[in-house]
Amino acid sequence: IADLAVHYNALVTVVRDQLWLRDKLNELGRTVSGNISFDELTGTSISFVSRTLDACAGVFYLYDRADAACNLTASYAFVERKFLANRFLHGEGVIGQVAVEKKPIMLKNISRDEACANSGTVSEPPQNIYAVPILFEHELLGVIEIATFEALTPMKKQFVDEAVPIIASQLNSSLQNRQIQDLYRNSQAANEELQTKTDQINVSNNELSALNKELQAQASELQAQRDELQAQTVELEKKRFQVEEADKLKSEFLSNMSHELRTPLNSIMSLSQLMISRGIEKDPEKATEYLRVIDRNGRQLLNLINDILDLTKIESGRMDIFPTKFETRQIVERLLDTARPLADKKGLQLDTHIEGESVLFSDEDKVYQILLNFFSNAIKFTEKGTVTLQVREADTKVFFIVSDSGIGIPAGNQVSIFDEFRQVDGSFTREHEGTGLGLAISKKLTALLGGEITVASTPGAGSAFTLALPLTFHGESLSADTVPAPPPPAIPSSGRSGPPRILVVEDNEIASMQISTALQDNGFEVVVAKDGAEGLEHVRQDMPDAIVLDLMMPKVDGFQVLELIRSRPETAALPVLVLTAKEISAAERSRLMHNNIVQLIQKGSTDREQLVASVKRMLSPHKGVERQQAEAAAGVAARSGAGSILLVEDNADNRLTVSAILEGNRYELSVAEDGEQGVRMVRELLPDIILMDIQLPVMDGIQAIKIIKSDPATRHIPIIAVSARAMKGEREVILAAGADDYVPKPINPDELLEKVRKWMT
Ligand code: ADP
Repeated sequence: IADLAVHYNALVTVVRDQLWLRDKLNELGRTVSGNISFDELTGTSISFVSRTLDACAGVFYLYDRADAACNLTASYAFVERKFLANRFLHGEGVIGQVAVEKKPIMLKNISRDEACANSGTVSEPPQNIYAVPILFEHELLGVIEIATFEALTPMKKQFVDEAVPIIASQLNSSLQNRQIQDLYRNSQAANEELQTKTDQINVSNNELSALNKELQAQASELQAQRDELQAQTVELEKKRFQVEEADKLKSEFLSNMSHELRTPLNSIMSLSQLMISRGIEKDPEKATEYLRVIDRNGRQLLNLINDILDLTKIESGRMDIFPTKFETRQIVERLLDTARPLADKKGLQLDTHIEGESVLFSDEDKVYQILLNFFSNAIKFTEKGTVTLQVREADTKVFFIVSDSGIGIPAGNQVSIFDEFRQVDGSFTREHEGTGLGLAISKKLTALLGGEITVASTPGAGSAFTLALPLTFHGESLSADTVPAPPPPAIPSSGRSGPPRILVVEDNEIASMQISTALQDNGFEVVVAKDGAEGLEHVRQDMPDAIVLDLMMPKVDGFQVLELIRSRPETAALPVLVLTAKEISAAERSRLMHNNIVQLIQKGSTDREQLVASVKRMLSPHKGVERQQAEAAAGVAARSGAGSILLVEDNADNRLTVSAILEGNRYELSVAEDGEQGVRMVRELLPDIILMDIQLPVMDGIQAIKIIKSDPATRHIPIIAVSARAMKGEREVILAAGADDYVPKPINPDELLEKVRKWMT
């Protein structure tokens, strides 16, 4: 029974120990499983094992395969750490040995040195040290070392041996977890890095494309700049060429103009000098011939000057356009009136083909000037045959074609003849006279009117010049006639029989004589009035059929006469032809147009035929013109008598000229040589008349006039200004300063005498 009891007790102990072992292992399993972190796992494991064994110390080393070393990861109840190593290499100490062998090592009865040198746990030598490898599927994960002060019972050793696989399996899955997490983290980091890189690439891409765009923009800007530069270069080149061309043309123009001006002037001066030196009594026939040449050259010079003035006006943009409504029939009649005598003189036939009746709105005078130029060229350059005028209308345009059977124009010259001073035959030996300005002016005028000139010609067969004009002028006009002028009134009949009577109102005696003679030679009866007041008196007493009216007259000027005539019902419709040498301003022209003048002829550029034709047209169709020998016009009796004149003039030649003109008229002439002396002498002498030059030294004429006219003692003395200054508006300035009259230089002797006589009364 005793033995049985011993065995039974032993069996009970075994059973109890086994139960304890199962219990502990189960508890360990629960403790280390579940949601536990890697670091917690090592710590918890070593503490559990150490406590269960009543160990004095326990350590947990994790094996690092990469550097073949065991590193201290967790510990239990360390006392003197300084003797403990944190790391054992393969084969180093107990731990390193266990790692190499992958088998547990049990140390018993350990010496102090051993404990310190070889063990990872204690400094006081323990009873037992048990180091066990942690293996999972034969792979070393770490080493556990337990130190106990009591001998390790077989059951406790069994506990360790059975606990280690549990820990190993947990450690393995934990390690794997950690690896997966690391991998995941790494891949995430890689992903993030990839994303950052992608972002960076995207940014760089964007930057690149922005840069690219900028570069492209810069490139196209550069290209544009290059193009612009190129265009500028071309433009500059063109400008340079134009400047050179203009320079060349200018010098050509100057040399041509001086030649054209000097040639007629030369014959005028030489012939007049010849007549002066030889006298005219010896050979009156020769003298008459010389006078004819002088007259012709004078006219040529006048034409040239008018042409140059026209050109200058066009070039400086001062050529005003005055559009009015007129019929082609009207202008054709005007043209034929002028051209017919010229054609008759050369024995040329003049034909017209007029299709339809066009009504134009354009500047009639300018159209007339262009067509007259065509006509006079056609007649000039045709020796025999016909000159034809054709007029037709097509698509808002009217075409005037002047063709001839003359010498024609070589193809090479058909463009250049429209340049200034260009003639086909420009040689000194040329047969036909002319300035070479007509076509240049015509072309420019045509452009102003919005039209076009074309030429077709065959040398030896003839030429045709075509003027194509818009029926309605659309450009900028200066005309007050866009507000249409009142319709022309019916011309009253004077109820008289006999030749039509024309009243010529003109203060210039010579001009008035020329006009009267021309009209009388053509069968008109002429009455002359030498100023506006006299003209009005004539109209009141004996109504004429028409009036030829000068504009610039003393006292009552032409504008006033015209307005007075128009204001009276009985004379409101009287035809009036205005004749003037004055440059008409736009305002004056509009004033004239609104007073129904029939036509405006610029004196000087008009000839007898044109005047007569205009007067005839003015009277037709109301009055037939019969050729009748008219009585001599009432001449203006020349008044003359003694009087005192003060001449203020600095130029000795001019003083001589004036005294020569006044010679034989019993005037008493005194002379002052500058403005100041002039004013002084006026006060001393109180002359009947003052002749005042304008450009004077010390004090100019304008100032002298102002002083004389502001002094009560001298203001009554008439002042006739004598000026060579041809500037526009000059005359107005002088008259505004107080001068009573004006004589332009070069002085026309008759004009001066006439004015002196007039003011002497
Ligand atoms: P002008 O007639 O004063 O010389 P234009 O400018 O009117 O000046 O004409 C220039 C040149 O054109 C003339 O000199 C002449 O050579 C040529 N020309 C013009 N019209 C004709 C024409 N109908 N027939 C032949 N040549 C002409």
